[in-house]
Amino acid sequence: MPDTAANSWDARAGAHMLYGFTDLPSVQARGAVVLTHGEGPYVVDVAGRRYLDANSGLWNMVAGFDHPGLAAAAKAQYDRFPGYHAFFGRVSDQTVMLSEKLIEVSPFARGKVFYTNSGSEANDTLVKMLWFLARAEGQPERRKILTRWNGYHGVTVAAASMTGKAYNALFGLPLPGFIHLTCPHYWREGRPDETEAAFTARLAAELDEVIAREGAETIAGFFAEPVIGAGGVIPPSAGYFQAIQPILKRHNIPLIADEVICGFGRTGAVWGCQSYDFIPDAIISSKALTAGYFPMGAVILGPDLSDRLQAAAEAVEEFPHGFTASGHPVGCAIALKAIDVILNEGLLDNVRALTPRFEAGLSRLAEHPHIGEWRGKGLMGALEAVADKPTKTPFPSTLSVSERIANTCTDHGLICRPLGQSIVLCPPFILTEAQMDEMFDKLEAALTRVFSEIGAG
Ligand code: PMP
Repeated sequence: MPDTAANSWDARAGAHMLYGFTDLPSVQARGAVVLTHGEGPYVVDVAGRRYLDANSGLWNMVAGFDHPGLAAAAKAQYDRFPGYHAFFGRVSDQTVMLSEKLIEVSPFARGKVFYTNSGSEANDTLVKMLWFLARAEGQPERRKILTRWNGYHGVTVAAASMTGKAYNALFGLPLPGFIHLTCPHYWREGRPDETEAAFTARLAAELDEVIAREGAETIAGFFAEPVIGAGGVIPPSAGYFQAIQPILKRHNIPLIADEVICGFGRTGAVWGCQSYDFIPDAIISSKALTAGYFPMGAVILGPDLSDRLQAAAEAVEEFPHGFTASGHPVGCAIALKAIDVILNEGLLDNVRALTPRFEAGLSRLAEHPHIGEWRGKGLMGALEAVADKPTKTPFPSTLSVSERIANTCTDHGLICRPLGQSIVLCPPFILTEAQMDEMFDKLEAALTRVFSEIGAG
């Protein structure tokens, strides 16, 4: 078929796909990027153009796009046992081995794992677990869920309700009882003359007040990303988790670390909670869990929640929840390999080794008069564009500054992500120093160009 405008890849995709989380007018104007394969941290489109993917796909392709060991692990498991569930006391050997491994590498001395197909489902699963537990323990009113504005926890109904984004209103969400607290972003949310310590203390006081107002006995859990990811890469203010965890403990409210992005090395430790020196009651994992080679999520329960859930389930004979592909043997075989690759084949070491260069690159670009702040932890970072640096005034949203920067980057072979007024970078862990320099050079050229185009050079 000749590649005319009407049957181009872009037209075919647009005709037959409803794109999610996509700026539709922009894609209609610019065309979709249709990809065929990847090479290390690069992806290649149907026309043979190469893009350095500084997003790692969606934060997940941490080992790049052509890791031979991961593909081989998948192939070997497909040949051996291509699919099974984890119901009725039947489970694949790979699923058992991965569960042992996940507890071994978790911050918990012991615990239990429950598998899903995605991060959203893992969050919904844990909400159901907390509701199940509350009823089993004679506290059926303990149902409310606390999260933060700008936190991102997914798109299924409970996970979307946890997510602190205005677009929820388009769906009539959040569900009742999902309460959003202040985002711990000192640069944006701190008051003039408020120290970072005072800001953290104010957020802890807010948590105390919300618990008092709602009643501790009505709150099932507090979910937080160690570093907020899709809300714009927002590390917590100093001492944040140390300030809130004792309050939650005092009221028997579990603290859940949503480690879908942070987990398995992104922040420079295996877990984001380790980077911020706290141990949660449970962890939500996905993305790097399989290095993006298989859709999989996991709820990892610490000792207290796993003991209580086990008892609650035994009392009614089962925990009536699960997915057809929970603990899929191919996903588990890939995850076992991915964990080995990240922890033992130098990927986590590379995150740590590259972090100073990454931070230096971000801080150099933040010297630009229209970059208000750089933020980051490990290999996740963001630059926030501002119209006026001293007052942190954003550009009018009609200018679509971050989208224009990202589009200009795409035109020059770099994929990075606009999030609000920020540009987000979260490259694969296999990046070399030269590739990191290429990333910053291309981003710098795009920033210069877009700011000069909008008269803000
Ligand atoms: N939690 C966090 C912290 C995430 O970043 C995401 C996805 N970006 C999710 C949950 C949802 O995961 P999924 O898209 O796999 O449902």
